[in-house]
Amino acid sequence: MGATGFAYDIARQFGLNVIEPRPALVPFTFTDPLIAPIAELAGVSVDARASCGKTSFDEAMLFTHRGLSGPAILQISSFWKPGGEVLLDTARGQDAFARLKALRAERGKLTLPIALAMIVPKRLAAQIAARTHGDARLADLSDAKLQAVAAEIHAWRVKPNGTEGWRTAEVTAGGVDTDELSSQTMEARKAPGLYFIGECVDVTGWLGGYNFQWAWSSGWAAGQAV
Ligand SMILES: Cc1cc2nc3c(=O)[nH]c(=O)nc-3n(C[C@H](O)[C@H](O)[C@H](O)COP(=O)(O)OP(=O)(O)OC[C@H]3O[C@@H](n4cnc5c(N)ncnc54)[C@H](O)[C@@H]3O)c2cc1C
Repeated sequence: MGATGFAYDIARQFGLNVIEPRPALVPFTFTDPLIAPIAELAGVSVDARASCGKTSFDEAMLFTHRGLSGPAILQISSFWKPGGEVLLDTARGQDAFARLKALRAERGKLTLPIALAMIVPKRLAAQIAARTHGDARLADLSDAKLQAVAAEIHAWRVKPNGTEGWRTAEVTAGGVDTDELSSQTMEARKAPGLYFIGECVDVTGWLGGYNFQWAWSSGWAAGQAV
């Protein structure tokens, strides 16, 4: 925030709008009652889909001692607003209900934790079983019950209490309002001769080099104009 904070001060001095900066591309943290079960799974990773509203990312997700991390979480954190929910599919690309139903038909004596471990990592499977039907045999679980178990896998709604903040954030969301700048030269419309580029502008890229690309490209454009 050092360089960006300095840039915001200058922008404000010249009457430019600055969108409230916040950490982005950053892990989520949780409080009770969610943090205990999440921390218990620290080190487990899954192929996930993380969604906020209409935006979703298909990437890996990692359980940690402090909360949720991994590319899927970092990406969706840029779209999450404090107080909001995140929808998580922890077995992206699979159909847990269909799989459980097929297992019930073929091997009805299988217990739920063992069947779930064929779909998600074993430790996560044990936790989902414990909060649904424990060690029940598949043969004893109705379609409705299997559907509810599948929802725990594919539609897990979590409400982060916050993020790990500036300490681990890879970028800053918010910053000098792009409406204040020429998109050709990055020059402030209200203050000729004053340019803003890179991180301090309200442009936030996805993971994968887009933030560097923005920093370099906006710098190049401003340099050409100067
Ligand atoms: C851990 C981490 C990993 C990241 N990984 C990626 C990645 O893989 N891909 C990607 O695209 N982006 C990544 N980013 C984001 C990327 O680093 C930034 O978006 C990019 O560096 C922004 O460039 P910038 O020139 O605008 O700002 P900065 O790189 O922050 O440069 C600002 C410079 O200004 C200097 N400065 C500060 N205050 C003053 C002052 N008062 N006077 C003069 N100079 C000052 C600073 O020392 C610094 O050198 C990552 C960021 C972090 C923190």
